[in-house]
Amino acid sequence: MAENEFSSSAYNRFLNEKKLMGSKCKRCGANHLPLRPICTKCSGNEMDLVEMKGRGKLIAYTVISVGPPMMIEEGFDREHPYCSGVVELEEGVRIPGRIVGVNVTEPDQIKIGTPVTVEYQERVRRGEEKKTFLAFRAL
Ligand SMILES: [Zn+2]
Repeated sequence: MAENEFSSSAYNRFLNEKKLMGSKCKRCGANHLPLRPICTKCSGNEMDLVEMKGRGKLIAYTVISVGPPMMIEEGFDREHPYCSGVVELEEGVRIPGRIVGVNVTEPDQIKIGTPVTVEYQERVRRGEEKKTFLAFRAL
C-alpha cells in the first residue's frame, strides 16, 4: 500500500530526519501540523508540504511529577518533574511537546509567551527502533 504523503507516519519519518514538516492548504493557505491530508478550515484536500522553522512561543504548559510509564522509565518522578506544553509556531500552528530549559522546580516562574525553538530528542526504548520526539527549548 502506498503511503500517503501527508500521513502521520510520513510526519514521524520527517521528525526522524529532524525536519518539522506541516501541510499548507492550497485553497485557503492554512498551515497544519502534524501533516494533514484534509484542511480543517475549508476541507480542501490539496496540500503543499512546508517545513516549519521551529520557532515560536509557549502558550500553555504544565509541570508533571507523575507521568506516563514512558517518562518514568526516563527517570522523571516527583523529585524530577518535567514540563509539557503547547507552542504556537511563527507559522501560526499549535503543537504540544516537552518544554526544556525551564526551571521545573519553580513552575510559577515559567512565563507564557517565552520564546522557544525546536529541539529533536532521540529515545531508544528496549526492543524498539530509535524514535525522535519533539521538544522545545526556552530561549
Ligand atoms: Zn483550507
